[in-house]
Amino acid sequence: MRLSDIGEFGLIARFAPRFLERLPAGTVGIGDDCAVLPWTKDRRLLVTTDMLVEGVHFLRAAIPARDLGYKSLAVNLSDIAAMGGRLTAAFLSLGIPACVEVEWLDAFFRGIRDLAAAENVPLLGGDTTKSPGPLVINLAVLGAARRGRIKFRSGARPGDAVVVTGSLGDSAAGLRVVLEKRPRGRDEAALVRRHNRPRPHIPEGAWLAGRKAVTAMMDVSDGIDSDLRRIMERSDCGAAVNLDALPLSALLRRTARRYGWDERELAAAGGEDYCLLATVRRDASAETAAAFERAFGRPLVRIGTITAAGDGLRYFAGGRPAALRRRGFDHFTSKV
Ligand SMILES: [Mg+2]
Repeated sequence: MRLSDIGEFGLIARFAPRFLERLPAGTVGIGDDCAVLPWTKDRRLLVTTDMLVEGVHFLRAAIPARDLGYKSLAVNLSDIAAMGGRLTAAFLSLGIPACVEVEWLDAFFRGIRDLAAAENVPLLGGDTTKSPGPLVINLAVLGAARRGRIKFRSGARPGDAVVVTGSLGDSAAGLRVVLEKRPRGRDEAALVRRHNRPRPHIPEGAWLAGRKAVTAMMDVSDGIDSDLRRIMERSDCGAAVNLDALPLSALLRRTARRYGWDERELAAAGGEDYCLLATVRRDASAETAAAFERAFGRPLVRIGTITAAGDGLRYFAGGRPAALRRRGFDHFTSKV
């Protein structure tokens, strides 16, 4: 059997159960955006780690070193945001091919520092080694959250509203600009920047984690088509998404029109938005959205509803059932 037959999630499902047996009290292991460990009486430690491999997650010729440093840290901070945590510390390990220039690495570390300084998270250590193949970047980030103020993927219930904290598809459009070598006008450059320097939604995550009505949360890394399925699996439920309700930026709409791209496809299946996807109890969803808008000056956008287990993920557009042509990203089955 090949890895491509089972995919990334099939692989995790094969080994994860053995590591979920007999965990110490207060510990949450494999299966969410972060692991959770007991820390103090009322605080929990959050841990996340992510690997980026040249040729898989990035092309060294297609992203400036400084942006790559920034993004490598951002995607990890986003997982702390997804649990509702505050940032504590970061650790960086690199496998570096001999051909990489010191000036490139200087710029890469400047990018890490840009975001570490902005988010006030200290880089406390890591490891560096020679790589005989591609450049490999691994970050581990620690965060902290109050006990009982952590959101998991497993709490969604039928009837809950499905919401997102930011617009979808800009990052995927930026990637498409790069891959299709489109001329870099102002819009194209802005989309590429959204792809290269995503903003982790740390304050939004902490805010949502403080609301009892929020039942589940995760960050949007592979696209809602893939990510919402993770919530459905962990919460044992289905979901219905209204494609007409996906929040699209004016930037994305203009650029999609210019190149004939399907903007909703990019928004639903593109990925790397790094905003948050959450579910909110039906009876409190309007009040939660209004309070979010007062706090952040932009809407918490409702894109769908959690439905019964067995319904699967269904899409609607114009009030009628609809389908996506492509699915969200999976590491061992997707063709880039
Ligand atoms: Mg995540």
